[in-house]
Amino acid sequence: MSKSTEELTARQALAEVSRLCYQRGYITGTEGNFSIRLGSDRILTTPRGVCKGRINESELVITDLSGNPTDPNAALPSTELKMHLAAYRLRSDVFAVVHAHPTIAVGFTVAGVSLSTPALPEVVCTMGGIPVAPYATPSTDEVVESIEPFVKKYDALMLDHHGALCVGKDIWDAFYKLETVEHQAQTLLVAHLLGGPKPLSKMQIDSLLSIRSVYGLTNEVDIEYSS
Ligand SMILES: [Zn+2]
Repeated sequence: MSKSTEELTARQALAEVSRLCYQRGYITGTEGNFSIRLGSDRILTTPRGVCKGRINESELVITDLSGNPTDPNAALPSTELKMHLAAYRLRSDVFAVVHAHPTIAVGFTVAGVSLSTPALPEVVCTMGGIPVAPYATPSTDEVVESIEPFVKKYDALMLDHHGALCVGKDIWDAFYKLETVEHQAQTLLVAHLLGGPKPLSKMQIDSLLSIRSVYGLTNEVDIEYSS
């Protein structure tokens, strides 16, 4: 069966984002998993146990909304696809999901240090803070339970001692949010090394929040105001 233009475009974008995540150090080895919602009942996703830095679009797998490959001879999807399926089930506005293990952002969760310090205007405006879902054993249903309350509300979140999960209206939107998360972590790390971050003031934050509508941002954001 020939593939639709929509599917071919999605395959190219998904493979490109997978390779970029590897090149940028957001994943190592065979880590990470990425997906795009194709129509109402098909998910295009990365296969299990493959280095995403070397992936080719023909290796990507299509599953149903339960994560079963539509082609019985196809490779198996990641065991972490459950997280993606939960995001698609809970959010009709989500059409792509990226899950990676960005070193510095994950390091903040390992150290138990907040990633939500209001330090960068762009993050305050677009995300508010970056929440951390409680630790859960990777690849199990525990992870789905731990992320559900967060993914309903946030487009970017951390999984404690594990990784980042970002959702978007397309795969690039989700990837850019992952970049923003790791950039916030890098900036805060440098600030910690230089004596500790000095958060934006409440007045500066309120001013940023007041211009969100100019950028068409209507999602709720939680701000971690300094005391
Ligand atoms: Zn993971």
